[in-house]
Amino acid sequence: MSTSSYLYQRPAGTTQLNETTQVRIASDIVIGGDAVVMMAGPCAVESEAQLEAVAQTLVSVGIRCMRAGAYKPRTSPYSFQGLREEGLKMLGNIKAKYPLAIVTEVLSVDQLDAVAAVADCLQIGSRNMHNFELLKAVGSVQKPVLLKRGLAATLEEFLFAAEYILKAGNPNVILCERGVRSFDPWTRNLLDLASVPLLKEMTHLPVIVDPSHSTGKRSLVVPASRAAVAIGCDGLLIESHPTPDKALCDAAQALPLDVLTSLLPSLNTVASAIGRSMS
Ligand code: PEP
Ligand code: MN
Repeated sequence: MSTSSYLYQRPAGTTQLNETTQVRIASDIVIGGDAVVMMAGPCAVESEAQLEAVAQTLVSVGIRCMRAGAYKPRTSPYSFQGLREEGLKMLGNIKAKYPLAIVTEVLSVDQLDAVAAVADCLQIGSRNMHNFELLKAVGSVQKPVLLKRGLAATLEEFLFAAEYILKAGNPNVILCERGVRSFDPWTRNLLDLASVPLLKEMTHLPVIVDPSHSTGKRSLVVPASRAAVAIGCDGLLIESHPTPDKALCDAAQALPLDVLTSLLPSLNTVASAIGRSMS
């Protein structure tokens, strides 16, 4: 058996959009097709009422993926760690009630069964991009995996992390550019937009952008989202909250729900300028 098969690599000379692997999150949600897919929701699941408010807004504007974390990887052990099992239950209730696919993070191998029972797509966060046992474990289930770039990962390291999942037997990997650490504290991370077309040259995997963690600043999320669509991302992951200033996690970057919805027409305009649509 080959020791370096590079399953993520795009065959030479194939850079067309229709040669991107399509990852199906739900029967009608495909990442890597013509449409740029919106995923939105609060950083953390906080309450039923919070999720209800978000779900109603998403459904009312045609967004079909809710992203919210039940398990949160926090830099400080004194920060809110997520509602954990209780949060998963709340996500399950939302899924039963609304036509929304659920994207949520799994932090460790022992959580995988419980998270996979609710999630339509498993998120592997930045801090876990190098957690090789977790990568192998999500490679052994057939749920789509949204793999975030590590805080300081090169693109090669990012793709090797994807390779772990593919090699373990799960072809449904979505790459997520979420910025890398830089010397400048004015943004939370440095949004590496050039990684999007570069990754799409290097790999057949779909690439989405997280303008929330990559900027860390509410006022930057809207322009960064437009730029991400313009540069060719296959989806956006945007943190949004009914009362952003009261968010228990990542308040500074959370968009109010009305700003999230008012962003959509301009994203449609940008998408159509490059022959795509928003979904
Ligand atoms: C998140 O998506 O809420 C998160 C913790 O992101 P990242 O892993 O990119 O820091
Ligand atoms: Mn967050």
